[in-house]
Amino acid sequence: MSISCANIKRTQSNGNLDFINSEISQWREEIPSKFTYEDSQNSIILFGGLTILQDKLLMSAVKSMKEQYIALPNPDFDSFRTGKAYGNRGQCNPTYFTVGNLVKYLLEVQKNSGMSAEEIVQKYVYVTASGCGPCRFGMYITEYRKALNDAGFKGFRLMSFEHNRVTNTEGEDTLQFPPSFFIRPVKAAMAGDILTLLTHQMRPYEVEVGAVDRAMQDCYDILSVALENRKSLTLALYRCRQVLKRVKLNRLTPKPKVMIIGEFWAAMTEGEGNYNLHRFLESEGAEVIPQPIMNRLLLSMWEYMYFEDQKSGLSTDSGTGYLDFSTPKRKILMGLFRTAFKVQFALYAKMIGLSGYKLPDIEKLARLGKEYFPLDVDGGEGHMEVSHLLESLKHKLSHMVISVKPFGCMPSSAISDGIQSLVVSRYPEANFLSIETSGEGAANFYSRVQMALFKAKQAAKEEFESLEMVESVSEKAHDFSYAPKSDKTGTAAKLLDALKISR
Ligand code: SF4
Repeated sequence: MSISCANIKRTQSNGNLDFINSEISQWREEIPSKFTYEDSQNSIILFGGLTILQDKLLMSAVKSMKEQYIALPNPDFDSFRTGKAYGNRGQCNPTYFTVGNLVKYLLEVQKNSGMSAEEIVQKYVYVTASGCGPCRFGMYITEYRKALNDAGFKGFRLMSFEHNRVTNTEGEDTLQFPPSFFIRPVKAAMAGDILTLLTHQMRPYEVEVGAVDRAMQDCYDILSVALENRKSLTLALYRCRQVLKRVKLNRLTPKPKVMIIGEFWAAMTEGEGNYNLHRFLESEGAEVIPQPIMNRLLLSMWEYMYFEDQKSGLSTDSGTGYLDFSTPKRKILMGLFRTAFKVQFALYAKMIGLSGYKLPDIEKLARLGKEYFPLDVDGGEGHMEVSHLLESLKHKLSHMVISVKPFGCMPSSAISDGIQSLVVSRYPEANFLSIETSGEGAANFYSRVQMALFKAKQAAKEEFESLEMVESVSEKAHDFSYAPKSDKTGTAAKLLDALKISR
């Protein structure tokens, strides 16, 4: 049970935080009234928490379903500070950023529109993922309620769907999301992943600064129009390919490849939640390998299948959700869903020209990691952090691996990192950096990244210089959709090796 910071009050007049010595009282969670279909027609539904691009594409996807959805802006330091002011002590970093982002947004709406807190509570609803787990993820909804309550939005409605079950569990008269509801948003997130992967493959090699970002903005416009008008995303992605083809690249510049892994939100967010790590690495001359959001969905599917297998023979709760996967038939359904999911991703990737990238085989990664990481331990990214590092080392996927963990994250800092030290001791060649984001201390964060990057740059340069090159090179080398087949690591070295270009 949490203790409310009842001594922090916001004055009605200016919306600033004033510290008042009022009494500290026991805080008890009250679950506000249900959210029905009728409510959904009269409310604005807020959501957020993925990358900026993905949130925007999701908004376009759900807009086509008529209800009013708004994606929250990317969380920044003000969100973090707001989260700290209204949240409980000792939370992990993503909690402060995401909870604070919602509170900050509502406070801004209140200030700019002149609406009262009661009107805002009636008008807005927030939908987010939640789950039951050994880490704080299972407590997110409670944290939202506590912070909203203390910020003056008592009774604010929150809806959640569990990340490993397609359901909303609040009761029969609650609005349910049928599985079909998720199809277009999942396709939008998939397209967002593909654009993100391509952005990181292309931007380090652009000849004209800003050309890739401009092309990606055009692609975003094409995709969002298709999503809003319920048109074919496959064709829209093909149109994006024509846009991307016009961007001039010089892919024969040796750059270190840096794989970013770690806690889902901290590794994925592109903003102050991880000190803009992706952009920072690029500005320091690296090519980044990001983790697609689809990996997290595939991990959730794998976890479901794995724990169902562990339970086989034991009596299981059949669940009360809209669609729970607790019977063997539904397990088959999950298998089919996973295959369809991968096929859809491969089709989209082919249409836009993302070559040589496959979604991970989580089972294979589990087999790789299980010597080090007990698979029965879930929470956070489970075995994935350890498996990704092993995969990168065994298949020479990157010159450096950075694992980003939020301050106070139990699965990532306490478990995965403990195990990573064993991995690194067995693979002394590993250039592995585990780094914590606390929302403060950016200078220390950047300096540690720069130190590890120096070694990665040397490795990329040596690999490149060990190969030969001619003055005139094949046009193929600069085609964004050409994925060279080679066992080298860096993009430039792979191209030289695959095209057998000689000096
Ligand atoms: S995995 Fe870590 S950072 Fe993410 S919710 Fe759990 S404790 Fe927090």
